[in-house]
Amino acid sequence: MPKTIIVSNRLPLRLQTEGSKMTLTPSEGGLATGLGSIYKKGDNLWVGWPGIALKKDAEKQEVIKRLKADNMRPVFLTESEIENYYEGFSNETLWPNFHYFNQYAIYKKRYWEAYQKVNQKFAREIKEVAKPGDTIWIHDYQLLLLPEMIREMIPDSNIGFFLHIPFPSYESFRILPWRRELLMGMLGADFIGFHTYDDMRHFLSSVNRLAGFGNAQGQVNVKGRKVLADAIPMGIDYDKYAGIAAAPETLDREKRYRASIGNQQLILSIDRLDYSKGIPQRLKAFELFLEQYPEFNGKVSILMIIVPSRDQVDRYKALKEEIDLLVGRINGQFGRLNWTPIHYFYRSFPLNALSAFYRMADVAIVTPFRDGMNLVCKEYIASRLDRKGVLILSEMAGASKELSDAILINPNNLNQMVDAIHEALTMPEEKQIKHMEVMQSSIKRYNIHHWMDLFMKRLAYIKKEQQNLVTKIIDEVAIKKIITSYKSAQKRLIFLDYDGTITPFFFDPKEAMPDDELKAIMKSLTANKKNRVVIISGRDKDTLSEWFADYPLDIIAEHGVWLKEMGGEWHTITTLSDKWKRDIKEVLEDYVSRTPGSFIEKKDYSLVWHYRKVETGLGELRTRELTSHLHYLSVNKNLQVMEGDKVVEIKSSQINKGIAAKAWLTKFESEFIMSIGDDWTDEDAFLAMPKKAFTIKVGGTRSAAKYSIASPIEVRGLLKKLMRT
Ligand code: UDP
Repeated sequence: MPKTIIVSNRLPLRLQTEGSKMTLTPSEGGLATGLGSIYKKGDNLWVGWPGIALKKDAEKQEVIKRLKADNMRPVFLTESEIENYYEGFSNETLWPNFHYFNQYAIYKKRYWEAYQKVNQKFAREIKEVAKPGDTIWIHDYQLLLLPEMIREMIPDSNIGFFLHIPFPSYESFRILPWRRELLMGMLGADFIGFHTYDDMRHFLSSVNRLAGFGNAQGQVNVKGRKVLADAIPMGIDYDKYAGIAAAPETLDREKRYRASIGNQQLILSIDRLDYSKGIPQRLKAFELFLEQYPEFNGKVSILMIIVPSRDQVDRYKALKEEIDLLVGRINGQFGRLNWTPIHYFYRSFPLNALSAFYRMADVAIVTPFRDGMNLVCKEYIASRLDRKGVLILSEMAGASKELSDAILINPNNLNQMVDAIHEALTMPEEKQIKHMEVMQSSIKRYNIHHWMDLFMKRLAYIKKEQQNLVTKIIDEVAIKKIITSYKSAQKRLIFLDYDGTITPFFFDPKEAMPDDELKAIMKSLTANKKNRVVIISGRDKDTLSEWFADYPLDIIAEHGVWLKEMGGEWHTITTLSDKWKRDIKEVLEDYVSRTPGSFIEKKDYSLVWHYRKVETGLGELRTRELTSHLHYLSVNKNLQVMEGDKVVEIKSSQINKGIAAKAWLTKFESEFIMSIGDDWTDEDAFLAMPKKAFTIKVGGTRSAAKYSIASPIEVRGLLKKLMRT
């Protein structure tokens, strides 16, 4: 039976050694609890680093044995690997870059090499345990290269990847010297999940601009393989937090804490020590608040918990010193014998204690400059059994996208933060309850279990889509089947794309004209009264009219804009607007002026930018720029931007070959239906065909078509065989 393997940098445990004694403490973190329902089952397992560098083989063997019982498998890292891969590349290169702190990012070859080496180490470890058909779910920024490595080693595995930190905008990401390798690493996955739509959007934009792969509705076409990107915000184990908040031990703690700090209002602030969390700014805002609202002096305190993290690193040491100074300054200036403005703890607390703090706090203040999600604010909400309390939340935290009922602030705006603190402390209870209820119902519904289910469902969905796209190479058996069906049918409907399908692809229109062989095929195919032949092409209607004037056939031109039945007039399906053309044309003209050799083709309902005569490389570069520019401009205009062979076409999204083909399918019911095409515009036609139809893709094997055929030569061969029957 296929199994599921979770992979993350750290295993969900704490390992401590004291002499020969070894203790393993399971992690209480949300992810560990959530994923517990997966990795603890059957043969499933979690692969990761146990958290310390072990040198002795005997110790490693002991750890392997102990972890095996808990469905875990360790990846051992040396001290140098920890220093360069983990503390180095992960935390000093990727972390600052992904959080928009590029001024702190360090680019070292040594770090990069270690990062590659450790990702390979993980890949080898997974190869030991994974089999084709298994699902491998990789977590976070320390393992960005791993999906591609596993894809190469075990091509038939289901690979999911979730990024727990933000994905930066292209402008930040492009700064990384190894940006393309990192993207290609991620694209080895089948499904890539992000916390927010913005992260996903940024990722897709980088993929488009740096790797050259476009996307449609989050599906990236990576050399014929579909990869899905989507936003699925991670939730918390709501019931666990609500449960702990109701536990007698928590109530006891709350009573004790309350007795020691008195009856003043309480603002809660909890973070790991990190420059992305905006801690000094928060302190400065509180200081400003105490200055501006002296009536609150003595009546409100902040309970500030900072969990130690990376504090051997200079940058973090400096941050800690800055915070210490600020806390000292504020307490020194405003404090009284019976009142401490800031209760400051530089250590971590167990869940019970945190829960008591969550219960006590009138306000929770979460003001990061950047945060992938932020779980503290969700835990606060889940712990408010009284439905009271106010959340002040930075709009730069992923959680803000779900929690619009919080007081949202920009952490760079101190005055706004001061106002928010005042608003929160004076908010009437009914209003607090109204907002808290909305937030609770959302956090309760989109909990960690929902997140996991959704992740697995999205992964399964894209795997199914990929399978639908695997076509069978046409063989004698298939050809026989087509011939038999053709023979027995009294009515036949045959859709033929032109360029690349019944004729080879030529750049020069003169060369693309039907040759003698094709003319003979068309003549005999259309002469048979049982056949209704439809040429379905992206070419303009005048060219097609001219080329096929001699044959009794139907034509669908410009990918479905113009339709003509034999003997009839040209018409369109819908009343189409082409007002958008003026704006888009201006943009294209700008690209033409910057790109020697490119030109614009104006069709009735579309515009095409051609770059086949542009210097190799430059055309591709401009295309990346142009498509992202156009994607941005085409929002709300009902347009689609299609990339073809050395062309970018912009047309109305009300039009495609599938919609046009449907008109024929309804009007001319037939026993035999065949559709042949070569590029992605033909995919719409394949999808529109009924199940019984013979759909054939020319070149490549990933398509919605049933069969694939090598080239136009074989297509002509097949058509000739049909005519001979
Ligand atoms: N946390 C904890 N003990 C503490 C303070 C915090 O266990 O003393 C936990 C907190 O409950 C939350 C996590 O640490 O689950 C912090 O997660 P968040 O997403 O807010 O920030 P991160 O540290 O992942 O950037």
